[in-house]
Order: sequence, then structure tokens, then C-alpha cells
Amino acid sequence: MIKKILFKAALASTVFLSAYASGAQKIGDQEIEKKIQSMSLGEKIDFLGGYNDFSIRPYPQYGIPEIRISDGPVGVRNFGPATAHPASINLAASWDRGLAYKTGKALGLEARTKNAHIVLGPGFNIYRLPITGRNFEYMGEDPYLAAQIAKDYIIGMQDQGVMADAKHYVANNQEYDRNNVSSNMDERTLHEIYLPAFKTAVQEAKVATIMTGYNLVNGIHLSEHDYLNNKVLKDDWGFEGFIVSDWASTYDGVAAANGGLDLEMPSGAHLSREVLIPAIKAGKVSVAVIDDKVRRILKTYDRFGLFTESDLTKDFVLDEKFVRDAVIEAARGGMVLLKNDNNTLPLTRKEIKTIAIIGPNGTPAVTGGGGSSGTRPLHPLSFVDAVQRVAGNTIKVNFEKGAFTGAPFPSGIYDNFPFYIYKDGKKVQGVNAEYYLGIKLEGDVIHNQFFEWLKLENEELWGFPNVPKTDFSVRFTSYFTPKVSGHYSIAGKGDDGFRILVDDTEIANLWRNQGPTNGKDDLFMNAQQEYKIVMEFYQAGGGALIYQGAKKVEMEVMPNEVIGLAVEAAKNKDLVIMSVGFGPGTESEAYDRTFEMPYEQSKLINAVADVNDNVIVVLNAGGNVEMGSWIDRVDAVLMAWYPGQEGNLAAAEILFGDTNPSGKLPATFEYALEDNPTYAHYFDHDKDMAVFYGEGIFMGYRYWDQADKKPRYPFGFGLSYTKFKYSKLKTNNKKYTIGDTVKVSIDITNTGDMDGAEVVQVYVGDKKSSLPRPQKELKGFEKVFLKKGETKTVEVELNKSAFAFYNPASHAWEVEPGKFDIYVGSSAMDIHQKKSITLK
Ligand code: BGC
Repeated sequence: MIKKILFKAALASTVFLSAYASGAQKIGDQEIEKKIQSMSLGEKIDFLGGYNDFSIRPYPQYGIPEIRISDGPVGVRNFGPATAHPASINLAASWDRGLAYKTGKALGLEARTKNAHIVLGPGFNIYRLPITGRNFEYMGEDPYLAAQIAKDYIIGMQDQGVMADAKHYVANNQEYDRNNVSSNMDERTLHEIYLPAFKTAVQEAKVATIMTGYNLVNGIHLSEHDYLNNKVLKDDWGFEGFIVSDWASTYDGVAAANGGLDLEMPSGAHLSREVLIPAIKAGKVSVAVIDDKVRRILKTYDRFGLFTESDLTKDFVLDEKFVRDAVIEAARGGMVLLKNDNNTLPLTRKEIKTIAIIGPNGTPAVTGGGGSSGTRPLHPLSFVDAVQRVAGNTIKVNFEKGAFTGAPFPSGIYDNFPFYIYKDGKKVQGVNAEYYLGIKLEGDVIHNQFFEWLKLENEELWGFPNVPKTDFSVRFTSYFTPKVSGHYSIAGKGDDGFRILVDDTEIANLWRNQGPTNGKDDLFMNAQQEYKIVMEFYQAGGGALIYQGAKKVEMEVMPNEVIGLAVEAAKNKDLVIMSVGFGPGTESEAYDRTFEMPYEQSKLINAVADVNDNVIVVLNAGGNVEMGSWIDRVDAVLMAWYPGQEGNLAAAEILFGDTNPSGKLPATFEYALEDNPTYAHYFDHDKDMAVFYGEGIFMGYRYWDQADKKPRYPFGFGLSYTKFKYSKLKTNNKKYTIGDTVKVSIDITNTGDMDGAEVVQVYVGDKKSSLPRPQKELKGFEKVFLKKGETKTVEVELNKSAFAFYNPASHAWEVEPGKFDIYVGSSAMDIHQKKSITLK
């Protein structure tokens, strides 16, 4: 029997749009105006700067409640332990609007239990290069896919009466030098690739707040970007909510006030009375501009009913079953089976007696990447425990870590100081310090100082003539000679940034604005050899602190032994599952990662494959990794992204066939990093702190199509345990007038032996256009579940925007008449049916 289903984008969720908000009691615009009139100018300005780091200031005298903010996007991170959800890229890989809604709803429900009124998510900056530290927090390379998933996530959250925050606006596509780098690009690229998902978040999901990125765009800080904030977001798109700065990314109060920023977080360092009152007096900022910001914030509160009900917690309990299930369901939907030679998977329980799980991610649970999205999960479940649970007790599961991931941070490392300098040819305990103005160790040395011990805070660091309290940097130099050979942790702690160099080689880099943070590396050092230790440090603001330490590492297993132990464990097992990839310590906000997996894991896979023919790889990462050196040695590869707290169950279920994989790549996986079209346009090669997006709109599959080259795995790719047949592609007409809705329908049949879901992907290509356009672009998709043997008709509607491009000459989206191709496929490079239509 053929079932017919009509999919209009997010049909289900639009019905609920802001149900909570509209149901809650509102006070109305007049009352809001009264509040604004009652507030003094100083009070209004104070309101525009964050309060207690993660709140907006209350004014009980005006009936304005404190509004509490929690990080997202993959857990309600603040105010205690939280449910850890799968990485956002996993959600995008599900291509499932329903799961996006459910994830948003689960986050909203949990936020209520913590009385968090705003959750800082979703994040959906475009994935350009796999090494970007925050890809895992984002939704892949395609603006349409990111827009669709973000939209239902936002609606799901806001339907619970919790404000979402779309971040990071905009073109925040790398962590390398993230506070200084300018993403420079032409207008068309900005509008076609980097802005669309934000536009959907504003216009279709009605997102309450937007966070500006750390980066600059075309040379202007986003917290003061008049064009992007005032013109595009507020005027053109009609954004009625408020713009929040990323934490400490406001630089100039006057520019930010006029440039559209509404709320400076975490505090009003620049949107302050000191800066703004003189500026208002001098006519540089108008009171109307200040009032508009206050009004936007208050009107958004009212939209969510917060003046009448600011305690969200009533009847809501942490750790609900709905929330716990949402994690596992999203993990199930988003994992992508990349390789499955000889139908190795799914595994058959009765054919297996012994499994070795090898790799650093086996246990403890790796639930997410690092940085501000990191939660303390309520129910972390390791991959090893998940496999044992799903495999059942007839199968014996062994674990071996197989990689040296560094010793834990040694306690008491700063309690003695084994470093020295030379004074008059004699070794003297201590360090020499050279101070510079500014945070870059540039220019003349403004002060020299000897310290007997490097464990300094605040005045101890800056209390010298010529040294300011902020914006200075220091280079500390000393020497270290171990008495016995062995591994040593060389460590530092800094507030703000620091890096450690041993014999001029950098071993730790935490060069960023931060509170006191530890960093170290473990090095093998020879007895009686002298090592030069340099600690570079800068102070940007607030408190200052720098520590230095060294300690011998006592390890149960030495680094050179770990692979040997893994190889032994892999021998004579029916199967080896490698649990490898990245984790919160190696893929994170604030820095970019390597393409190669850390800790010599490629070597580990090869060493294991030397002794066992049945090797399966389960990978954790926010994007592609180097596979060329090992992929031919293994039978199957499952991309498990970061699965959230109990999401490892989903991976285990997929291995054993309890769940049929249905995730599809939201980004192209290239063979080598250099194959990626953005590779040459990523780092600021000229050191002018700008990256020109030279690939333009031709990034991701748009590039691979144009170059007529095949990547390792294309955008939209993912294997299933069943097979699908595409047939009867139809459009409701052949000829249309521009503006008509084009209705596309296609039959999908599950022709394999297992129930499963398929993502039907609809791409549109303009045959002839006045400007170069991609061969095809994703403009519709639907995930359909089919029982074996079942056929469904999928209908996708393409409206005017599906055929449009941004014309920089008119600064507008345009559709040109002519022929268009409609491609329906199961990936960008696996097109099953094609049809042409004409627009007049
Ligand atoms: C991140 C934001 C985050 C904020 C608050 C920043 O470093 O870029 O995404 O929401 O910190 O934790």
C-alpha cells in the first residue's frame, strides 16, 4: 500500500508557535512605556550590562524581575548538573525536524526546573573546515539544513516559555584567533551562506535573542556592526528581540550603543554610565537609542509573560523521562554509518563471544566537546558500559585504553619551585620577567623584574611603576634540570592567557581571556639536561594570576607501553571495536583542533588491525578526521559525533542492529584537509588578523559539484542496513510563474530486509543564470520511516526562495526566469531522479 504524506516545512511545530508565550499573562506596551519613563537614565544604562555574570538586572521597584541565563546549546549548563544532549552537529545529521523540536523542548523543560529564562542556544555557524573547534556545537555546512534544524529547536524551546538565543551572529567560523580575526567576504557570500539560518531563526522561529560573535566581519566588531545589527537584522528582517554580546566581546560603548547591541554580557564594562552619559551629553548617542534597547528587552520579557510569572519552576522537575529519552532518540537519529564492508554490521549476538573495546573514548563517557557548552551530565554512560548492556551477558567485553592521553593534573604542582636563573654565573631559584604594554609582548620592555617564585596574583603582578592593571604582557624565563630521567608535567595557571615553551617549543597554549585556568603537558626529560622554560602571559582585565610548576609524573602505564597492551587485548577476540576520536580536552571552544586524531590513535588502529581482522571504528568528533592512514584496515566506521549522556546506547544499538542507522552527513568529508576549498582561506596568512573567504559561495558540496571532484564522503551521505528505491518523481506542473509554489513528489520504497528511515533530499539547480550559481543547492528534505516493503509518497513544496540568489547589484534576492533542475537523491552525489521545470 502506498501512503501519501505531505510535508510542509515544520507543519507540526508552527501550530505550537509560542504557545506558552501567547498563553501567559501580558502587561502590554503601555505598561512597558510607563516602566521606561519611571527609570532614570542611569538605571536604564545599568540595565544594559549583565548582572552576576549570567543574569539581567532586576528592578523590583519597577516590577522587573531578574532574568537568569544558562549556557546551551547542548545542555542547560549553568546552575548545577544537567542533561547532556548530543552535539548539535549530531542533531543536524539526523535531518529530523521532529527531533530538533524535541531537543529544544527538552532543553526548555530543563531550563524551567533551574529557573533559567534564557538558554544560550542553538549555535549554527557554518562548518567551513573540519578543524574548527566548535563545529560540534553547530549544524554543518549547508545554510538550509542548519536553518531548518535550528528553527524547530528554537520553537521547541520557546514553546516552553524559555527564550532561545541564536548564536553566534555571524560568520563565527573558526576558533583560531577568535577574538581578533575578521571574517571578510563579499556581500553575496554573506547573504547566501552565512546569514540565511539567522534569517530563518528570526522570521520563522521568532527567536527571542541573538548573540554576536567574537569575530569581526569585514573589519568591524559584531558588537558594533551597524549594517549587520541595525540594517539587516532589525530593519530588513524585522527582529523584535534583543541582541546580546558574547561574553566580553564589547570594545567600545558608543560604537556598540549605536551599532545595535542591546545587552553587554557578562557586565556593562562599556555600555556603562561612565561611557554613555558623557556621550549622550556630547550628542554622540541619543536617549532614544538607549530607550529602544530597554524597550526591546522589556517587550521580550512581556512576550514570554515574565512580568506576571517570572518563577518558571512550578511543577517542573529535573531529569524527566521525556528529557532523558530525547537524548537517546537524537543520538539514534544522527549517527552516520560511513563504511560497512561485507555487511559486517549489524553484529549477530550469537556469533560473538568476545569483544575488545580499545581506545581512549571507551570509558569514562565522552558526552560532548569542550568549552562553555560542557555540562556536568546527570547520567553519563560510557561506551564500554553501553556495549556491554546492549550486547547482553553472553558476550564478554574487555577494555584497553590504548592511548596515552596524559597524566591527570598533578596535585601540589605549584607547591615547590624547581626553576632557576643565572645571577653572576650562579644558579638562583626564580624567574626573570620582562613586562610589555599591551597584550602581545610587543614593543619595548617597560619593566624588568626578578621573582623568586612564580605564584603571583594581582598587585604582586602589576604593582610596579609603569605597569598598568590591565592590558600588559610578561615573558618569564627560567631553567629546569631534572635529577632523574622520566616524564615531567610542566604546568602553568593563568588569568588571563598564557603559553608555555620548553626549549622554544610551545607545549601548552591557553592564550585567551579567561579566569584562572590550568594548562600543562607531560614531557620526557633527561636527567642532568638543562631545559629553558618560558612562560608568556597577558592580562586583559579583571583579576590577574600566573603560576608555574613542574612535577615528575608517576604513571601506572608508561606512554610507550599503552599500544602494546592494546595489541595484546585485541589478539584472539572475535571482534575489536575502536572507540576513538576527540573529546572535551582536544576539541573545544577557544582553539582549533588537528585533523589527525590526537594521541597517535591512527597508529593504534593500525597496530590493532595487524593482529585482528575484525575491526570496527566508532568515532567521536565534531567533523571529519584524517582517515587515509587507517580506513582500509577496518571493516566498518560509525560516526557517533558526541552522543550526550546516554547516547552511547544508540551507538551500541546500531552496532547490534537494534537501531537501523539513518543519520546523514551535514558536511562533506574530504580525503585530506587541503582538499577543502576553505583551506587556503582559513588562517590569517598575512598576519593582518583577517581571513578573506576567497572560496565565496563555493564551499562544501557547492564546491565539490563545481570542481567535479569526489570527496571521501559527500554531504548528505550515510549508510543504512536496508535499501531504498526512488521512483515516480513528479512536479505538479512543468511551467510556472515566478512566485508559484512548486510541488515535488516522489515515491520511496524500502526494498531491503529491515525497517528503517531515509532522508529524501531535494536540490535545485539553475540551468542558466546571470551570475555563477552552484550546480545545485539543498532546498527541501524529509526524513521518512518505512517498514520493509513499504512505499510512501513524499511531497516537498518549493517556494520562491528555493529558486533565488542574492544579487549584490540590487542588494536583494532575485529569481531569474528560465529552466531549473530538480534533483532528488540520498546525498549530494547520489541523485536518483531529476526533472526540469520552467519559471516564467
Ligand atoms: C561563548 C558563548 C557562551 C558564553 C557564555 C562564550 O565564551 O562563546 O557561546 O554562551 O561564553 O558562557
